[in-house]
Amino acid sequence: MATDPDLIADASLRIRDRGLTPERAAWEAIGSVADTIGAAGPRQAERVSDLYDIRNRMVSSLTGRAAPGVPDPGHPFVLLAVDLAPADTAGLDTARCLAIVTEEGGATSHTAIIARSLGIPAVVGVPSATAIPDGTLLLVDGITGEVIKEPTVDQQAATAPVLRPHREKLMSPGSTADGHRVALLANIGSARDIASALECGAEGVGLYRTELYFLGRTEAPSVGEQVNACRAVFSRFAGRRVVVRTLDAGSDKPMPFLGYVEEPNPALGVRGFRTAASHPELLHDQLMAIKVAAEAETAEVWVMAPMITTVDEVRSFAQGADDAGLPIIGVMIETPAAALQAELILAEVDFVSIGTNDLAQYTFAADRHSASLASLNDPWQPALLRMVEMVTGAAADSGKPVGVCGEAAADPQLALVRAGLGVSSLSMAPGALAEISRSLAAVTLDVCRRAARAACDSDSPSSAREAVRALLTT
Ligand code: PEP
Ligand code: MG
Repeated sequence: MATDPDLIADASLRIRDRGLTPERAAWEAIGSVADTIGAAGPRQAERVSDLYDIRNRMVSSLTGRAAPGVPDPGHPFVLLAVDLAPADTAGLDTARCLAIVTEEGGATSHTAIIARSLGIPAVVGVPSATAIPDGTLLLVDGITGEVIKEPTVDQQAATAPVLRPHREKLMSPGSTADGHRVALLANIGSARDIASALECGAEGVGLYRTELYFLGRTEAPSVGEQVNACRAVFSRFAGRRVVVRTLDAGSDKPMPFLGYVEEPNPALGVRGFRTAASHPELLHDQLMAIKVAAEAETAEVWVMAPMITTVDEVRSFAQGADDAGLPIIGVMIETPAAALQAELILAEVDFVSIGTNDLAQYTFAADRHSASLASLNDPWQPALLRMVEMVTGAAADSGKPVGVCGEAAADPQLALVRAGLGVSSLSMAPGALAEISRSLAAVTLDVCRRAARAACDSDSPSSAREAVRALLTT
């Protein structure tokens, strides 16, 4: 947002034409974007507070003051907070901040996603986290979600072996011990993610969240700008797969230029591919930009649409992508409706990718950002695993690839379950790639299949975890 060309142009005009100081100009320019977004309704309030956060940081930077936000105690620390603004999380020093614990947010909320992309263990939705006194020794397990105060020596010793450096590199392509391939790909949304995906040796990109270059804009970016943004990614992954997701606007990613009307339930409203019905030009321009960028580079570009619910939507998207000249076309499976019709959907496209963050929220009718409903959004919920199984079964019948790109792709034991279900690629925060690769390499496909069966047949997330753990230790 801070580098948005419209914002910079507006601030520059205020300096040139009205003689404002840079800090005043930045203050007013961001204030005007915040007013536009705020006018879109109270649900956009979170976005407005992000903008104010950016404004405060810009003004601090321009006036030579320390940025507001996370204090630096001068030594490594575990960060405890009620919640964090995305800018707080994105700006964390990964060498200092060892882990994050917040009182609010769900495991698939944006704070959790960004923390994971930085390779910082994060546990969200911990009541009274901020009441823990400064100086308390904490053990934070970002995989199990456990936060232990003053752990015993035994607990510390049991944890130490799983501590990994933040930027561990994937040494070989993802595969089980007996050579069954599972491509290990990265989720990216920012320039920093591109760098860490490369650093961590991702085989490619399984989810390029393009809406991040639309966010906070008062007007849609031009085709030229979009071409540049896509080329910046494609050029870094020459010869490798890059799965580009078209605009996933709406709900938690409001965009003023779509002219939103207030909706009582935005997560169940006009979001994802549904915005293409009222703004076909946006999708058309984006597909054209992806095509132009793909032609200029050598990455193997796949394109997919988010939030699909009907086969007609799939046909409409596939037609648009085909008209744009894009050769590999797919859709995301993020709703139970899409999972139930996976077979018909796969008949229309080349691949599907399962977005377990949203698939969980819609399967359990539980807001993914709600801390109090986090247990329903647990990726080990057997009902969710059965949804995934429905899709992988259809994919196996069609012989087409099926990926998983939700946050849960980064869980090492769940990765085995997914491989056993027949998932052909896992896309995740880059920092998790090496761990997942090790987890796969330690078992055969047969073990993965047995783990998948045991997890799907369980009656709760804890028994699913336990069943898989037991299978792996025998
Ligand atoms: C998902 O829903 O699982 C997903 C990958 O998309 P996002 O988190 O961007 O909604
Ligand atoms: Mg989603």
